[in-house]
Amino acid sequence: MPPQPKDKPPQDSTHSEDSGAAHASNLPLSVDAEGWVNAAVCVPSPNCDERADPEDISLLVIHNISLPPGEFENGCVQQFFCNQLDHAAHPFFQEIVGLEVSSHFFISRQGALTQFVPVGARAWHAGASTFNGRERCNDFSIGIELEGTDEQPYTDQQYACLQRLTDTLMRHYPAISVERITGHSDISPGRKTDPGPAFDWPRYLDGLASR
Ligand SMILES: [Zn+2]
Repeated sequence: MPPQPKDKPPQDSTHSEDSGAAHASNLPLSVDAEGWVNAAVCVPSPNCDERADPEDISLLVIHNISLPPGEFENGCVQQFFCNQLDHAAHPFFQEIVGLEVSSHFFISRQGALTQFVPVGARAWHAGASTFNGRERCNDFSIGIELEGTDEQPYTDQQYACLQRLTDTLMRHYPAISVERITGHSDISPGRKTDPGPAFDWPRYLDGLASR
């Protein structure tokens, strides 16, 4: 059966400021000089700092997160990245007290795009990490969090939003080639497992416009 279009807003919605338009088409999103994607909901996080070399943005790191693990669309990730999580609200939250982390982007199960840190700044997403022999991947990477778990299939809306965002970032930051898109588990092996076996790398990469 051929894929049926569903829940597709009109094409011209991509020209609006509607944050929900982030997955509406394959057109690139616009990125401002600081590295804010205008179609994303902007939720600034304090958990960032300056890049040592603002010109060196050359790696894309795919993650997953959900808070509590396996629970979705409740706003807790946004609160966590802004140091506003109520740690008394769930037993798991006790395990992450005091952690100051962020990512540049977060894609919800419904494919909604949130941005916490402008790409021109360094988000705190990778921690101890090495890519091709180079340490401290936060210095030169962009972090994208998918709402999810290692084992639960990601949604069609998430793949669509992620691909459109990736295409946009590759156009804007040409040092990011397909070979320089990686998973957190690949740069922090033994310490991190995300985005996990549920993430369909061939589906993601084969669907990019640059392929
Ligand atoms: Zn991660």
